[in-house]
Amino acid sequence: MQIKRRDFLKASVAVGGAAVLGGCTLNALTSGKDDQIGKGGTQPGTWIPTACQGCTTWCAAEVFVQNGRAVKVRGNQLSKSVSGQVCPRGHLILQQLYDPDRIKVPMKRTNPQKGRGIDPKFVPISWDEALATAIAHVVLTEGLWSKEFVGDFKDGKNLFQAGQTVDEAAFQEKETHGLVKWWNLELKDRTPEWAEKVTLIPKDQIIRVAKGMGKAAPHVIVWLGPGPVMSPRGAYTSTAIHALNGLLGSVDNEGGTLRDSKVPSAGAPKFDAYVDEIAKAGGKNKKIDQRGTKAFPAMASGKPGSGVVTNNVANAVLANDPYDIKVAIGYWNNFAFSCTGADRWEKAMAKIPFFVHIVTNPSEMTQFADVVLPAAHHATEKLAFLKSKANLYASMPLCLYVHPAASGEKAVGHQGGRDRDLLASGREVKG
Ligand code: SF4
Repeated sequence: MQIKRRDFLKASVAVGGAAVLGGCTLNALTSGKDDQIGKGGTQPGTWIPTACQGCTTWCAAEVFVQNGRAVKVRGNQLSKSVSGQVCPRGHLILQQLYDPDRIKVPMKRTNPQKGRGIDPKFVPISWDEALATAIAHVVLTEGLWSKEFVGDFKDGKNLFQAGQTVDEAAFQEKETHGLVKWWNLELKDRTPEWAEKVTLIPKDQIIRVAKGMGKAAPHVIVWLGPGPVMSPRGAYTSTAIHALNGLLGSVDNEGGTLRDSKVPSAGAPKFDAYVDEIAKAGGKNKKIDQRGTKAFPAMASGKPGSGVVTNNVANAVLANDPYDIKVAIGYWNNFAFSCTGADRWEKAMAKIPFFVHIVTNPSEMTQFADVVLPAAHHATEKLAFLKSKANLYASMPLCLYVHPAASGEKAVGHQGGRDRDLLASGREVKG
């Protein structure tokens, strides 16, 4: 896939936009239009079922394969949970699969000088925060917020005008907290014109989407899956997403954030038979993140020690408590970059005598490895079943697409239904 730099930047921005728009610009990311793909187009191909594992929502997805090459991702068309959609992170399966050197955060150049040895002075692009705030700005100035959930001005007159502060006492809030404060501190200046400059998404599109969402409210949702937020500074994206859902009253409404259901996994084979005695005994030992101690009770489901305290592992390693760790294995992680207090991780990783890193791309944490092993991408190079639930439906997506790079065979899928059937039956699949 040859992508020009400008096209890539546009796609990056589109990802950010879609992260809060619930998937409305997804096709901009992929090669070809839907009506060309799956209906013949220039080359034959096959949609292969899988599950996106960009986050732990594990949405049912499909990958379109032409000549053994994955060219497009979409939600599973039969899924009532995801209604044929995946979030922007799901579409990035292709970039994860093919990029030789993954880019970790969107960045832009601030130094106009170009040339060998000149620092581009890259800075992160804050498209996610920018676009969320701009949509909220339009929703408020157009009077489209959920009066039932958010509340209203005491005299019924909308005082939200661009650039103008509002008296907090003039607004009677219901289920939200601090809306007028948010407007005065942040939203009043976050116009669509401002957001267009930051995100490169046209202001007319932002206004159209905001009005559409306001019209559909409260039966509207800004994508809640961890996908949009499991990234550096994702807490800000998460905050923006939840604030928008609150503003639109989508909380606990059908078509909104309602998702409760049970995954029908009772009949799935148990893996207990594959846990050997060493693993069974080890599972009862103290955990290296100090969970269950008074300092880190880590209550999950009301049980002390049942939660995980990943970022405390560095402290525990440095303190030799509960163990003086001699050997460690890291899988798909980069704590020396992604955790707060990353310098603790660097010291801790330097202290461990032997570290094996299993990853798809080299990262900061890999620099401390004694042995590096290649990892497979879950959605496209491994077989698995997962649990997922959304929109009152539950499902167990099966990951069937195995990329030839992982299977060691010629491409699956490019011969149509035959390969798909073989994959579904579990035969002839290696790797
Ligand atoms: S929400 Fe998670 S599992 Fe679903 S498409 Fe996005 S990244 Fe993939």
